Amino acid sequence: MRPLLRPPIERITEYTLEHRECRIKLNQNENPFDLPDEVRNEVLSRVAAVHWSRYPEFVPRRQMEKIAEFTGWTADGVLLGNGSNDLLQLLFTCALDAGRGVVISQPTFTLYKLLAEAVGAPVCEVPMTRSFTVDTGAVIAAANERGAAMLVLCSPNNPTGGQIPLADLEGILRATGALVVVDEAYVQFAGPSAVTLLARNERLVVLQTFSKAMGAAGLRFGYALLSPHLARQLAKVKLPYSVNIFTLIAAEVFVERWDTLKSWIGVLVAERGRVFSALGAMDGVRPYASDANFLLFETLRKTPAEVFSALLSRGILIRDVSRYPMLERGLRVSIGTPAENDEFIDALREVV
Ligand code: PMP
Repeated sequence: MRPLLRPPIERITEYTLEHRECRIKLNQNENPFDLPDEVRNEVLSRVAAVHWSRYPEFVPRRQMEKIAEFTGWTADGVLLGNGSNDLLQLLFTCALDAGRGVVISQPTFTLYKLLAEAVGAPVCEVPMTRSFTVDTGAVIAAANERGAAMLVLCSPNNPTGGQIPLADLEGILRATGALVVVDEAYVQFAGPSAVTLLARNERLVVLQTFSKAMGAAGLRFGYALLSPHLARQLAKVKLPYSVNIFTLIAAEVFVERWDTLKSWIGVLVAERGRVFSALGAMDGVRPYASDANFLLFETLRKTPAEVFSALLSRGILIRDVSRYPMLERGLRVSIGTPAENDEFIDALREVV
């Protein structure tokens, strides 16, 4: 009998995250600081003033212009999505199929491979160097040998934390003919952004999100920055109204108030340095420098599963990334509030 779904769907390994109630949640790279009441109330009062019974605008022009201003790109080259995942899916479905493959530098964000597999596209995984930098030469060679249609780079990379230098990115753009997608979910914690390369690279797509530095993971808002021509093509297939009115309004307020909200970043970056030093001083722990709001570390005496469970029993939830390629000894911890980080450091010291 003919299968009900396309065969690749059955073969995909599920991407799930078990929900665990925990006192200290450092497993999803969220911003631990919530909105000041005054900003929250501004969102709520604007939401209260619009008709919930009406669809959002077909093309939310005002918000596209706000994002253009916020990022230094042009509004015609902005696509808004229900989180950046939404736009990743759009890109993968539009660029790939069984005859059009993708090159991914591994280890990286799990969703890329899953989305490629879902459309039945061949996936070429290029290992990072031992120090977890993108192996630019190998990525270029793989893309050219296979005639890849798309190349996805995550910068700063989840879960390793490092960025790809813009010069390397330009090198990749010059040496390949593929669509190059740069996922900048964590860019506000370091930078500079690849947005500055958009004007002279029609094949570049930059993705950003409000889920990390912007502190709005629950609202689901992300955007793609790309050439106006590509934006028009992708817009044909994008689901209309994928971003709801509540989120559109909130996104606008976040951008308007970003000058005050962004003090979060300085705190988190300073905390990242503090946690990194504390981990580096522990026997049996090897942390990797990070440009994001999380740290990858390896445990040299206990297994990641043992460390994960021991922390969990103390009310601290981090991420076991030991099933990712090259990370057999890997764990990832998000940077929390100073008090959360203190507790994590003390607990880890006892556990390892
Ligand atoms: N890209 C990367 C690299 C991520 O780590 C995440 C979140 N885990 C996302 C995209 C998803 O972001 P969003 O919440 O905007 O869908």
